[in-house]
Amino acid sequence: SLRWLALFPLALTAQLLLGFSLWWLLRRRQRSMVQTEVLHSIVHEFQTPITAIQMAADILDSPIARNHPERTDKYVRIIREETERLQQQVETMLTLARADRNTLTLNLEPIQIHYLLHSVAERHGDYLNLNLQGKDTYVLADRLHLTNVLYNLIDNAVKYSADKPEITLVTKANADGMTISVRDRGVGISPKQVSHIFQPFFRVDDCNQTSVKGFGLGLSYVQRIVQAHNWTIWVKSELGQGSEFSIQIPTSSLLPVLPNSIRVKE
Ligand code: ADP
Repeated sequence: SLRWLALFPLALTAQLLLGFSLWWLLRRRQRSMVQTEVLHSIVHEFQTPITAIQMAADILDSPIARNHPERTDKYVRIIREETERLQQQVETMLTLARADRNTLTLNLEPIQIHYLLHSVAERHGDYLNLNLQGKDTYVLADRLHLTNVLYNLIDNAVKYSADKPEITLVTKANADGMTISVRDRGVGISPKQVSHIFQPFFRVDDCNQTSVKGFGLGLSYVQRIVQAHNWTIWVKSELGQGSEFSIQIPTSSLLPVLPNSIRVKE
C-alpha cells in the first residue's frame, strides 16, 4: 500500500501541471481577444473620419464642385472637422501611452483645489455647478494630469446625459482626507457593466450610446492617474438616474498649511 502512496505526489504534480497549462492557455486566449478588440476599435474610430475626408476630397475634385463652386465650402469644412477629430483621437492615444505605468512620472506640486475647480467650472456652461464643502486645501498633485482627469470625468458626464446635462462638482472633507466627485443626472450605468468601465477600450454596448463618440480610453487613463497618486476612485451609478465618480484624496496628499518655501503660482 506504501507503493500507492508514492504515486500521490506524482498525481498532484500532474494535476498542477495540467492546471497551470490550462490557465496559461486561457490567459493567452484572453490577451489575444483583448488585442483583437483593441484593433477593431482603432480601425473603426479611424475609418469613419478617413472615409469622410476621402469622399469630400473626391467631390472637390469632381465636376460637381467645379460647376457649383458655392458647394465647395461644405466639403472643405468636412475635411477640416474630420482632420481635427483624427488629431484629437491620436492625441488621446498618445496621452494614454504616455500615462503608461512604466513611463508615467508625476510632477507633484501643491494645488489649491477649490481654485482649480472654479477655473475648470469657468470653462463650462451653466450646466456645471460647484458644491465645495469645507475649507480650501492644497493638494499635492500633478496639475496637468489632475486637470485632464477632471475634464475626462466632466466630458463623460456631458456625453452620457441624454438631453440637458446637469453636472455638479462636489468636494467633501472626511476623516481620511477629502473627496472630489463629479455627479451627473445622465443615462447611468448598469451594475453588470459598471465593473468594466475602467478597462481600456471598454464601452457600454447600448443603442442609445452608439452615437456617442469615444475610444473607451478616458476612464482607464483617469484610473491610472488616480492610482499613480496613490488615491482611489469609485463610481456609484443607477440606470436612468445618473452617475457619481468620486476620488478619495488621503491626508498624505493634503497640505493644509502651505510651507513658506513653496511658492504657488495661481
Ligand atoms: P468613452 O467615453 O470614450 O467611451 P470612457 O473610458 O471614458 O470611454 O468610458 C467608458 C464607458 O463607460 C463609456 O463608453 C460609457 O459607456 C461609460 N461611462 C463613462 N462615464 C459615464 C457617465 N458619466 N455616465 C454613464 N456612462 C458612463
